[in-house]
Amino acid sequence: MRILILGGTGEARALAAALADSPDLQAVSSLAGRVSNPALPVGEVRIGGFGGVDGLVDYVRGERIDAVVAATHPFAGTITRNAASAAAIVGLPLVILRRPPWTPDASWVRVPDIEEAARHVAATPAGVVFLTTGRRDLSAFAGDATHHFLVRAVEPPEGERPQQLTLLLDRGPFRLEGELRLFREYAVSLLVTKDSGGEMTVAKLAAARELGVPVVVVDRPALPPGPPVRSTVDGVLDWLAQLAG
Ligand code: NAP
Repeated sequence: MRILILGGTGEARALAAALADSPDLQAVSSLAGRVSNPALPVGEVRIGGFGGVDGLVDYVRGERIDAVVAATHPFAGTITRNAASAAAIVGLPLVILRRPPWTPDASWVRVPDIEEAARHVAATPAGVVFLTTGRRDLSAFAGDATHHFLVRAVEPPEGERPQQLTLLLDRGPFRLEGELRLFREYAVSLLVTKDSGGEMTVAKLAAARELGVPVVVVDRPALPPGPPVRSTVDGVLDWLAQLAG
């Protein structure tokens, strides 16, 4: 069986590695091509968008794909919806691999999207906002001249950005001591994050709790209804084994 892994996450790379030695399951990993120096999965890799649902349909038919694993970042909502649509059109089995969200804290302010996060920030007193929502979400905060934004991202931001900005180019994993140092050094007064889940970037939430810094969490986009969801690589491997058996 030929498996398309929609990737861009550590879990997708772990799945590709787990399938590398399989005699029956041959994986091709797909990356969006957003970062200049991506961590590459082992095995066959293709890079770049497919061209919407139609392009994905053409791709899976042309490449004779037998099953799709949508293992993208929890906030990559478009490609996940496109995968569900394309799989339904072609009649392909699809499973979604999504790591669990972070354990919620009662003190968090939860917002449905980045625009609402920006509205919430605008209504809070002036201070330093630690923004870890990704470089492509800065435009929502561009009109905010009151706050200073400490932005941490893997690559430099694109598009509009707030006037008062300090950019930290860094890639996780981040540890609690380092996060505490960062919060103190920049006198962070508010943390804004997406509910990405996982261990790599969770320490900032512990640091905020320890220092009494309020937290705004952007909720995940809804999953497309229908396809099964697994929260671990092993769960997807079981799903694939059932499919192959
Ligand atoms: P998105 O909004 O769901 O997708 C936008 C478009 O990018 C899709 O319509 C598709 O283009 C293309 N695309 C996305 N993932 C792709 C993949 N794995 N292979 C081929 N094309 C893909 O996704 P995104 O938020 O831009 O994220 C892009 C990639 O970065 C994903 O692989 C994701 O796992 C990773 N990532 C995202 C975040 C985040 O916060 N969003 C964080 C870390 C990593 P076409 O319509 O042309 O097919």
